[in-house]
Amino acid sequence: MSAPLKAAILVVSTTAAKDPSTDAAEAALRGVFEQDGGGRWDVVDTKIVSDVATQIQRQITLWTDSAEPANLVITTGGTGFAVADHTPEAVSVLLHKQAPGLVHGMLAASLAVTPFAMMSRPVAGVRNQTVIITLPGSPKGARENLQAVLKTLPHACLQAAGVDSRALHSGGVKKLEQEAGVSGSSTTATHHHHDHHHHGHNHRHNHTHSHPPLTRHTATFDHSPQSNDPTLGPSRRHRASPYPMVPVEDALTLIATHTPPPTTTTARVTPSLTGSVLAADVHAAEPVPAFRASIVDGYAVVGEGDMSGVYPVVAVSHATAASEGEDGDAVLKVGEVARITTGAPLPRGATAVVMVEDTVLVSATEAGEEKEVRILAPGVREGQNVREVGSDVEEGVRIFGKGDEVSAVGGEVGLLASVGVREVQVYRRPVVGVLSTGDEIVEHDREGALRLGEVRDTNRPGLIAAAREWGYEVVDLGIASDQAGSLEEVLRDGLRKVDLVITTGGVSMGELDLLKPTIERSLGGTIHFGRVAMKPGKPTTFATVPVKNNAGERVSRVIFSLPGNPASALVTFHLFVLPSLRQMSGIAPAGLPRVPVILSHDFSLDKSRPEYHRAIVSVGSDGVLSATSTGGQRSSRVGSLKGANALLCMPSGPEPLRKGARVEALLMGSLRTNV
Ligand code: AMP
Ligand code: MG
Repeated sequence: MSAPLKAAILVVSTTAAKDPSTDAAEAALRGVFEQDGGGRWDVVDTKIVSDVATQIQRQITLWTDSAEPANLVITTGGTGFAVADHTPEAVSVLLHKQAPGLVHGMLAASLAVTPFAMMSRPVAGVRNQTVIITLPGSPKGARENLQAVLKTLPHACLQAAGVDSRALHSGGVKKLEQEAGVSGSSTTATHHHHDHHHHGHNHRHNHTHSHPPLTRHTATFDHSPQSNDPTLGPSRRHRASPYPMVPVEDALTLIATHTPPPTTTTARVTPSLTGSVLAADVHAAEPVPAFRASIVDGYAVVGEGDMSGVYPVVAVSHATAASEGEDGDAVLKVGEVARITTGAPLPRGATAVVMVEDTVLVSATEAGEEKEVRILAPGVREGQNVREVGSDVEEGVRIFGKGDEVSAVGGEVGLLASVGVREVQVYRRPVVGVLSTGDEIVEHDREGALRLGEVRDTNRPGLIAAAREWGYEVVDLGIASDQAGSLEEVLRDGLRKVDLVITTGGVSMGELDLLKPTIERSLGGTIHFGRVAMKPGKPTTFATVPVKNNAGERVSRVIFSLPGNPASALVTFHLFVLPSLRQMSGIAPAGLPRVPVILSHDFSLDKSRPEYHRAIVSVGSDGVLSATSTGGQRSSRVGSLKGANALLCMPSGPEPLRKGARVEALLMGSLRTNV
């Protein structure tokens, strides 16, 4: 318990973001950690952001979602009722656990000082391993609130960080209180406050009793928070997405972190092993070749050096399996030769093979069989033209390592087949479910003309084709209507059958967009990200849902909710879903191959978001890869994926990227040739 706890301070203030010298809250809070922190705190970072939810969320998640997360994040500012105040809203969607006790502690302490404490709307809780608390913006209010809870925070932070809670709790509450330097009989926090108060800190407002009660000026003033509960109606729904917009790299990191680890299974060695990854080393069960074999057509001989001369042909060895008792009978002696064909076993006693080209026939029998041959070879080496037992693959040698992929080239299946390995341990390839959502979506091959508003299901056939092409078994989950109950049922059913569900549609901000609330509220899932800073594909959502598998164990299933627009759905499948599937299959690296390419014409850029531009990449006669756009990149335009074999990673920017510029491309398909 001796290492200091890492605290980070986020000042939320548009003014301070422009001119940091105007901020006094940071210094006030650092003072509290130093004076009242009992030497347990190290303020490791401080940042200032404007009153913008995404900026607040981005900075906090940098602290909480990193490999070495902060133990405590405190924000100061934006907790009031002003139009620009939305720190609590920005923070609360980040929390995995709410801590109303801390909120109560802060409010109780402040209320003992002023009823205007009611005007602060703090939230507190835990994200991953970090405790997060929102403090008011006034340095004094922030200081008082932090003082009110600071003594209990080391304990909360250690628990949140995963320190064994039984160890923390041994000795009971009394011991905890002692260690924290608080007493349970009166709320020390309040007490503490009074101390400060009477030691001459100037309050803007006087004491509790001298204040008139607050009155409400409008009957319609609605305190109810925005909610993602679809039953509450549009007025209570979020007007802007409450999900922080994460950069693509962060989205990929979240996918890598939350994708369940691969599981192992036994597979028979068959041609359909292609695409699997071996989960254990493989050793040769037999030597290759299994017998001494000739590499050429010719004559097996006994001896070495100058063997020129005439020899009787005493036997013939063909490349066929010997029948019982046949092999080993004949022993070739010095002065004899045996005719032998390529791949045939050497007669016992033979030491080398002379190629037929180095011999001439001397005499034949009446039946036309060879009787004698002349060998013209002046220098015969021992073992010449002979493949010794195990000379290709020694018995017992390691032929594959764990993690090796069985490619479609065929070499791996061939090698396994040659050494008599019949079964291998592989990573189980995940099964994918594909679901379209939307009341307007109809089966793509439905007969007859479309009625007004109807749209043929484009995403499901496209995604099923793509997932199959990458070697995954797919379960077609059909089309779900935009009704909460229906969606929940289809998803539950799907999650029982498959490892990963892909849905499309229903993730934008429209009234019927039910996916996120269904995942969070009905399925008890966790949304790891709900928006990504990219074009196309901004509303892409990644979640995991806990389920019991057939063995009754708790496992995690993955849901990718992709945008409804067909081009967005396919782009985000390749960018996000494939890496998750490949990671589950034990493939590393999980992402698509990234190669540098040269633009063959100007490309305009999006001003604010990086774009994944559908393109055709081809190799020129100079060996250089060049990229051509497939045209109009509107996210509804699925035609822009026709012929595309790559996604160009275009930066955001005001000016077009010029012909000849170099960018990175993610390869989805095989390279074209321009030669
Ligand atoms: P949504 O996110 O549900 O609002 O969908 C965005 C757009 O994509 C709408 O124009 C939908 O009609 C369209 N869309 C959604 N799902 C599909 C689908 N499976 N096939 C074709 N278009 C779709
Ligand atoms: Mg829809």
